[in-house]
Amino acid sequence: MTLDNFNFAGKKAIVRVDFNVPLNENGQITDDTRIRGALPTLKKILADGGALIIMSHMGKPKGKVNAKYSLSQIVDAVSAHLGVAVKFAPDCAKAADAAAALKAGEVLLLENLRFYAEEEGKPVDVDKEDPAYEEAKKAMKAKQKEFAKTLASYADCYVNDAFGTAHRKHASTAVIADYFDADHKMLGLLMEKEVTAVDNILNNIKRPFTAIMGGSKVSTKIGIIENLMDKVDNLILCGGMTYTFAKAMGGNVGKSICEEDKLDLALDIMAKAKEKGVNLVLGTDCVAGDDFSNDCHTQIVPSNNIPEGWEGLDAGPETQKAFAEAIKGAKTILWNGPAGVFEFDNFTAGSRAIAQAIAEATKNGAFSLIGGGDSVACINKFGMADQVSYISTGGGALLEAIEGKVLPGIAAIKG
Ligand code: AMP
Repeated sequence: MTLDNFNFAGKKAIVRVDFNVPLNENGQITDDTRIRGALPTLKKILADGGALIIMSHMGKPKGKVNAKYSLSQIVDAVSAHLGVAVKFAPDCAKAADAAAALKAGEVLLLENLRFYAEEEGKPVDVDKEDPAYEEAKKAMKAKQKEFAKTLASYADCYVNDAFGTAHRKHASTAVIADYFDADHKMLGLLMEKEVTAVDNILNNIKRPFTAIMGGSKVSTKIGIIENLMDKVDNLILCGGMTYTFAKAMGGNVGKSICEEDKLDLALDIMAKAKEKGVNLVLGTDCVAGDDFSNDCHTQIVPSNNIPEGWEGLDAGPETQKAFAEAIKGAKTILWNGPAGVFEFDNFTAGSRAIAQAIAEATKNGAFSLIGGGDSVACINKFGMADQVSYISTGGGALLEAIEGKVLPGIAAIKG
């Protein structure tokens, strides 16, 4: 079933959203992007004449009640966004009466699902090394099913609109779907958009396709790099991983971030790119600093000849040009991970050059997807979020999807 085709009139829908919004020390929301992301789904259900039961996690309370992570803190904000006075259920597993009393057009927000260890389905009081752990895990899995069944009992249909947790097999993201038939469970509109965006990158590719992988380490990106190798025309590898490649090729990288145990892996990636005819673009020059700080001394040096005591902190001007060249003519673009330590204002030029080239290509009709944490922070820092096609709301979930893994939250609904 799809959300657009389902008429919610007279129905109660339980919707898993990602309302894990950042709060300041006074419990005020500092960024409501995630709430805004779920509004199209929530509003469609209300507009149809349905009743809404909203559920989410917040933070990592590890199966214990913790006021710091109470969703009661966001009731007013959700009410304001929906234009409805949202009711609150202070115990998500004991909300049957509140759910039963809901009328069309009314909204009930459940307390943080992760106040129950059953949500994640992992024992919290038994150490992983403890021989009793396996038994405890089995018992917890059974309790997780019961918990999911309780949540399911509140509603007639289930909607999952929480892409950020779609890579987790939790009670509310996957197990609950077992208690609804195919006609009564569906992805939310945000999820649909995310799935389409990933599909544009993995299956529905317009060529040329340029992927830009940056960040600190090659080891955390290897799964994605390998999956993309069969799909891309140009592969830009930038950021901290530049120096692992430079070192692997016999260069001097000074005190740059470098994974000594991944030098063979770097050579392997280079060989694979050659074999598959992928144009691998690596930095040739960099902005090196004499300290890991914004105000350190800097010099432009070749990426494979960095003086002792210096470290590469951003892409140099020649590299920026080469990156822009590989991006500008692309029709499909994926960007994950910055080209330098963009948190320091003096080392943003490489990432900015990438963002600008992506904006230009997008203007010329390319589909550009930005996602996976830091590149999103980067594009927001540059105020360029509206110049790309799609910014994913999923960190780990997006990365796993691009690696080609099946996300449990999506499989639970689509099969
Ligand atoms: P990741 O979480 O792997 O995507 O890495 C993102 C982080 O990589 C950001 O915090 C950047 O500051 C960092 N980064 C990018 N380039 C470098 C570099 N040349 N040296 C050290 N860290 C870097």
